[in-house]
Amino acid sequence: MADAPGTRVVRAGLPAEEDERPFLPGPTFAAPYRLSGDVEGRRYGYGRFANPTWTAYEKALGELEGGDALCFSSGMAALSAVLFTTLGAGDVLVAPADGYPGVRSLAEGPLARLGVEPRLVPSRDDAFLDAVAGARLVLVESPSNPRLDVLDLPAIVEAAHVVGALVAVDNTVITPLGQRPLESGADFSVSSATKHLTGHSDVVLGYAAARDPDLWAGLVKWRGDAGAIPGPFETWLAHRSLATLDVRLARQEQNAHALAELLAFSDAVRDVRYPGLASDPSHPRARERLDRFGSVLAFTLRDRAAVDRFFAATRLVDEATSFGGVHTTAERRGRWGTDDVPEGFVRLSAGIEVTEDLVADVGRGLEAAGPVA
Ligand code: PLP
Repeated sequence: MADAPGTRVVRAGLPAEEDERPFLPGPTFAAPYRLSGDVEGRRYGYGRFANPTWTAYEKALGELEGGDALCFSSGMAALSAVLFTTLGAGDVLVAPADGYPGVRSLAEGPLARLGVEPRLVPSRDDAFLDAVAGARLVLVESPSNPRLDVLDLPAIVEAAHVVGALVAVDNTVITPLGQRPLESGADFSVSSATKHLTGHSDVVLGYAAARDPDLWAGLVKWRGDAGAIPGPFETWLAHRSLATLDVRLARQEQNAHALAELLAFSDAVRDVRYPGLASDPSHPRARERLDRFGSVLAFTLRDRAAVDRFFAATRLVDEATSFGGVHTTAERRGRWGTDDVPEGFVRLSAGIEVTEDLVADVGRGLEAAGPVA
């Protein structure tokens, strides 16, 4: 019987056991490598093309995603590789209108200037199914950030493939321990490893995974040409953090669930989104499609001033962007001006603090925020 993913993360990508050798060898720092004679078929010649520290981490990610993985300097670098290797003039890109804003910015900026037509749709199954006709690439974010809508990936993949479109899934919010898009037939699984995968708020990193050798070769060539490469030390930190991914996610999810229940019954809150809440519109789909519900939730307080009072009254909720780290963080998403959300809309990422402490702290924040009406 195959080991559970939470067991596999502990040793994923480690070299074969050898006496007197470390479990995870340290990072390799190299620009050129010593390389004599004929270069054909040689892997390590120049640091923009390959690095043994990347190779080990990529092996681990590939094991978890069920394909070949390639790491990049950030999630956006990985997404760019997928977008720029699959799209050209006259192609249609279907992407979420309400997902991570970096993709919209590329779609409406450089991709549109190249002649790619962006077709931005809300993160709903019917909207994606209606939009696939004539598309070259369908990019889905599920669960979506920041509203946490969960989509029916196999249905969207099937509809897209029928019309000859490729499908890429941004799996950042739930990680390969929550969903493996390649197993649902997607052509690419892309993630920002800056979030849960690294999990300590100290590394920016990304990766893309694929099964098709030609799509894969396109990504490899793009990374070598464009040079959006991760540093060896960052990659090593990421690999080291992978072993604790399952235990971190388990505590973070327990905390997110407890907070979601607290928020759902609070008179300070207008609307709570968490796929693990039985009352959430995405709950049935999440139960069907995800192996876990995740650590990110969203809720709406009365207004901006209520959010300010919330942060002033909490000790364990740091005001910061991003998500997936060991510290509980939250932010008023509207402050960036990139998401169409109410003024009081807050995205919160549950950390690994002891649940009772966190619930008490957020409870103090809600009391200070005051009732919605
Ligand atoms: N995709 C999603 C869903 C994200 O939330 C983010 C960052 O917040 C990204 C991609 C971009 O990742 P990075 O910041 O590592 O470039």
